[in-house]
Amino acid sequence: MNNPIKVGGVETFSTVDFPDKIAAVVFMQGCPWQCPFCHNAFLQKTLTEDNFIWDNFIKFLQNRRGILDGVVFSGGEPLMQNGLASAIKEVKNMGFLIGLHTGGYRPKHFVDILSLVDWVGFDIKAPFVEEKYKKAIGGISHLKEVQESLALLVKSKVDFECRTTCDPRLLTIDDIYNIADELKTYGVKKYFLQKYRPVANDKISTDEDCDKFFLDKNLIAYLQQTFQIFDVRR
Ligand code: SF4
Repeated sequence: MNNPIKVGGVETFSTVDFPDKIAAVVFMQGCPWQCPFCHNAFLQKTLTEDNFIWDNFIKFLQNRRGILDGVVFSGGEPLMQNGLASAIKEVKNMGFLIGLHTGGYRPKHFVDILSLVDWVGFDIKAPFVEEKYKKAIGGISHLKEVQESLALLVKSKVDFECRTTCDPRLLTIDDIYNIADELKTYGVKKYFLQKYRPVANDKISTDEDCDKFFLDKNLIAYLQQTFQIFDVRR
């Protein structure tokens, strides 16, 4: 492979990371954001330069043709890495479908990657309001990039879903209504709400706080009306 990639770990068998597919998942190192609800904070920094995990993963895949449908590139933020396209091509040439999890922070890279992938899970962290988005991703101003990436994704016709982790420290029920309305204007058809599981340093969120989004019948009915496919992941 020409461009090395930095991998933090792999999951060799997953039924939940690529809809209707059995997949392996590659967790890429590095993320430009610091979402307060991140459970993969150990992947935020880019640490190693070597390809040890990647090379072994490719060897593993050689024996998984016919067993796995695809490979998901997750993170961290996969778009951080310039070697992503060649890594995807290497796996694609082995006959696997390609999934990508991203927050869409780097549209100029995303547009090249889109032609290589079969499905995208696109994270929406907050309503498209500068201060809210900035807070949800750890104080970084990247809303314009996210919006540009979402527009590219819709235009690309690649199958995708949008999803939001409902951290009650960051989001209100009104915020979810606002996200839904915004996504509709972009032409998003599939949307999922994901339950937030408190991170270790969150001493304030209660079970009730985390569940309130899913127990609000009006909100759930609104989301069901707004999207062709909507569901919750708790
Ligand atoms: S984008 Fe994902 S990996 Fe990066 S900080 Fe947020 S939750 Fe963690």
